[in-house]
Amino acid sequence: MKNRSILVSGAGIAGPTLAYWLHKYGFHPTVVERAPGLRSGGHAVDIRGTARQVADRTGILAQVRGAHTGARGMAFVDRTNKRVATMSTEVFGDSGGPVAELAIRRTDLARILYSSSRDDVDYIFGDSITAIEQDGEGIGVEFDNGRSERFDLLIGADGVRSAVRRLVFGPEERYIRDLGCYVSLFSTDTTLDHDGWQLMYTMPGGDGRPGRTAGIYPQSEPGRALAGFFLRSDPLSYDRGDIDAQKRVVVRAFDGDGWEIPRMLSAIWDAPDFYFDRVVQVQMDSWSRQRAVLLGDAAYCASPMSGIGTSLALVGAYILAGELAVAAGDHLLAYPAYERKMRRFVRAAQEFARGAGDGGLMPDSRAQLRLRNLSIRMLPYLPKRFVGRGMENVANTVALEDYPISVHH
Ligand SMILES: Cc1cc2nc3c(=O)[nH]c(=O)nc-3n(C[C@H](O)[C@H](O)[C@H](O)COP(=O)(O)OP(=O)(O)OC[C@H]3O[C@@H](n4cnc5c(N)ncnc54)[C@H](O)[C@@H]3O)c2cc1C
Repeated sequence: MKNRSILVSGAGIAGPTLAYWLHKYGFHPTVVERAPGLRSGGHAVDIRGTARQVADRTGILAQVRGAHTGARGMAFVDRTNKRVATMSTEVFGDSGGPVAELAIRRTDLARILYSSSRDDVDYIFGDSITAIEQDGEGIGVEFDNGRSERFDLLIGADGVRSAVRRLVFGPEERYIRDLGCYVSLFSTDTTLDHDGWQLMYTMPGGDGRPGRTAGIYPQSEPGRALAGFFLRSDPLSYDRGDIDAQKRVVVRAFDGDGWEIPRMLSAIWDAPDFYFDRVVQVQMDSWSRQRAVLLGDAAYCASPMSGIGTSLALVGAYILAGELAVAAGDHLLAYPAYERKMRRFVRAAQEFARGAGDGGLMPDSRAQLRLRNLSIRMLPYLPKRFVGRGMENVANTVALEDYPISVHH
C-alpha cells in the first residue's frame, strides 16, 4: 500500500471521522487543529439518513444518543410566546424534520469522534498549515509554529473558511456562493417556558425592514439557551475582526422587535461565544488537486441552515477513507472515485438547502408568513409518507458500500 502518511487539517466532524477510518485501513493519519483544544457548547447538528449508518459503523451511535440535545421540535410563536405553528420530531420520521431524531451539539459530536480515534491517531492542537509544496513524491507542509514536515497526502477538513482550500485552490471568493442572509448565535440565559422546543419568532419584511427571525434553542443546562438571529440582507460592510461591530449589526437589525428579543439583545455584549457570519455554500468543480483533497464544509458546505452539513461531512469522510483503502492508497484512483460517489448527494443537498432555507425564516411579506404558518399547521394531517420526504430522500441519496478492512495492512 502506498501513501500511508496522511495529514488531515481540521478536527471538527469530518477530520476525526476520516482519521478513524484511515487508521482502520492501515494508514497513518495526523490531524492538525487550529483551536487550542476541543470546545464545548454551541449549536446543534443533525445526523440524517445514510449518515446514521456511518455513525453506527464508526461505533458511536450509543454515545450520540446519550448526548441528544433533548430537542422535541421547532415551534413558531407570536410575540406573547403563544405557539402558532409547530413541527414536532415525531411528525417527520427520523431524518426529515427541522430537528432530526439524532440531534446533538456539534461540539459533543466532535468530542465523541475525537475520543474514538485519539488512541490511534496523532492529534496536534493549536497549530495550522501556512504553506504547502507538492511534487511527484509527496507534499511538504509548513506549520504556523515554524516547523515543516513531509507527508504523502493532505486532506483539508478545515471547514467553510478552509486554509487548505485557499493554499491549494486560491482565494475563497471563487468558491463561495452567497445565500443572501446572515446568521448569528450565542449563549444566553432564558426564563422562557420552552419545554424542550426550539422557539422561533418571525417578523416579515416590509416598511423598509427585511424579513427576520429570532430563536431560542434550549441547552441541556436548565435556564441556558442559544440565542439565534437570522436576517435577510445584502452584504454589509464591517470589519470581520471587530466583534463589537458585528454585534451592532444584529442589535440594529432587531432593534424595537418584541417577544424575548430585547432580553436576548441585552445579553449579546457579554456573550462568550458570539458567532456571526454570512450564510454561504461552497461550490467547486473539483475537490482535489494532485495530492491534496477537500472534505466536508471545506469542499461542499451546504450552509448552516441546511440541516444536512454534518451528514455530508460524515458520509464524505467514510467514502474518502474507503476509496483510499480499496485503491491501496493510490490517490489518483481514490480522489476521483470519492468525488463521483459524493457528487449527487452534494448537489441534492445544496439544491434543497437553497430552496428550503430562507423563505421560511425570513419571509418577505405578511402573506408569505401566514402561508408558512398555515402549511406547517397542515403537516400533521398529511399522509405520513409525504411529510419530510424531501429532506429524507436527500439524506439517503448515497448507498453505503462495505469497504474491506485490513486487506492492505
Ligand atoms: C451556526 C451554524 C449552525 C449549524 N446548524 C446545523 C444543523 O442544524 N444541522 C447540521 O447538520 N449542520 C449544521 N451546521 C453545519 C455543520 O456544523 C457543518 O456542516 C459541519 O460541522 C461540517 O463539518 P466539518 O468537519 O466539515 O467542518 P467543521 O465542523 O467546521 O470543522 C472544521 C474544523 O477545522 C478547524 N480549522 C479551521 N481552520 C483551520 C486551520 N487553518 N487549520 C487547522 N484547523 C482549522 C476548525 O477549528 C474546526 O474544528 C451549522 C453550522 C453553523 C455554523
